[in-house]
Amino acid sequence: MAIKIINEKCRGCRLCVKGCPFDAIVMEGKIAVIESGCTNCGACLDLCPFEAILLEEEKNGCIDIADYSGVWVFAEQRGGVLQPVVFELLGEGRKLADQIGCSLSAILCGEKVSALTGDLFEHGADSVYVADAPELANYTSDGYSKVIVQAIEDYKPEIVLLGASHIGRDLGPCLAVKCNTGLTADCTKLEIDPVDKKIKQTRPAFGGNLMATIVCPNHRPQMSTVRPGVMDKPEVQKGRRGEIIQLQVEFSPADIRMQVLEVIKSLEEKVSLTDAEIIVAGGMGLGKAEGFDLLKDLAEKMGGIVASSRAPVDAGWIDHSRQVGQTGTTVKPRIYFACGISGAIQHIAGMQGSEYIVAINKNESSPIFEVADYGIVGDLYQIIPELINALN
Ligand SMILES: Cc1cc2nc3c(=O)[nH]c(=O)nc-3n(C[C@H](O)[C@H](O)[C@H](O)COP(=O)(O)OP(=O)(O)OC[C@H]3O[C@@H](n4cnc5c(N)ncnc54)[C@H](O)[C@@H]3O)c2cc1C
Repeated sequence: MAIKIINEKCRGCRLCVKGCPFDAIVMEGKIAVIESGCTNCGACLDLCPFEAILLEEEKNGCIDIADYSGVWVFAEQRGGVLQPVVFELLGEGRKLADQIGCSLSAILCGEKVSALTGDLFEHGADSVYVADAPELANYTSDGYSKVIVQAIEDYKPEIVLLGASHIGRDLGPCLAVKCNTGLTADCTKLEIDPVDKKIKQTRPAFGGNLMATIVCPNHRPQMSTVRPGVMDKPEVQKGRRGEIIQLQVEFSPADIRMQVLEVIKSLEEKVSLTDAEIIVAGGMGLGKAEGFDLLKDLAEKMGGIVASSRAPVDAGWIDHSRQVGQTGTTVKPRIYFACGISGAIQHIAGMQGSEYIVAINKNESSPIFEVADYGIVGDLYQIIPELINALN
């Protein structure tokens, strides 16, 4: 697409110059001229009273979207272990593929990773594209994007989903730019438009105050990174198999500009809030960092783990990997204890999918009680020791 001025029709009124949100139109003599800052947003089209501005299809780079078919899931693995978000994406991808009437595939990159294909089939993939090479043993933006871009060009998927993990958030934009297509980051909801079968991608915007639904009408594949913990994992279908497609992988030394010297696992990284069945979360109501020790006692009694609202993380009481909420992790445990947490919308966004929510708060009008299944009004420093005693 490109914005064009029809010189013969332009009367030099300057309305487009004033109205361009990107200051990308200038006057040369009495004719408007489009400059390089133009994003083809089309705002100027409606402004021109003389119909002197056109949005033209460019001959080069034009794609036929009918050539693209199938839903792909990026099968993120680390150290030979598939990440939990991959199964969530396969669950969601299966639903999307069934609604469109196309197949579901996974794309797996790494070294000696073929053994992981079985798990992908059992979670719903019809086929798995495998790129196996020593250069792919550790994730690099260059290595992974080279292989996946080539596969997208060769096999033309309609939709590509990645987990919004650190790797997915790095890889997604690299792929989207190289494929010249649209990417919606950190989606919390995906739907197929029943009319045109395009994907509607919804994500929180402006601090969670607005949910934006985004479509990618003219470019393919339609790409989304999806927030871990939001979508449901599918039922495992034991023994289910599918087709394995080996991708040809060749690298020249200049292809991968970064070198992974060492992968260091921090202790905190091992905490998996998304997999926890019981979470005991604390907020500013704890009053001090040491308050988390009490929560840990309660969590350990029930085989759960400790989490936090953002305020204690900001106060330096606990690591960010424990934060639940819009800018933290989304969790769906069987039981979520919210201790001294007020229930701000950004916190609720990350835990409202919990099966049961138990709130302990000394202020009975705290918004947390609006989402709680069980609520105890009182001082957490009195209530939690009593709960621990009862469990003992
Ligand atoms: C863009 C943006 C993103 C954000 N992302 C997140 C996010 O991901 N996660 C998140 O949590 N927040 C997030 N926030 C912050 C959020 O808006 C709130 O500020 C935060 O959740 C408040 O944390 P809190 O409930 O622990 O603290 P407070 O709001 O201060 O609440 C403390 C609560 O403890 C109660 N209390 C006090 N003493 C006791 C006691 N002794 N016993 C029992 N109860 C007691 C009080 O009644 C109160 O309800 C975000 C904000 C913005 C603007």
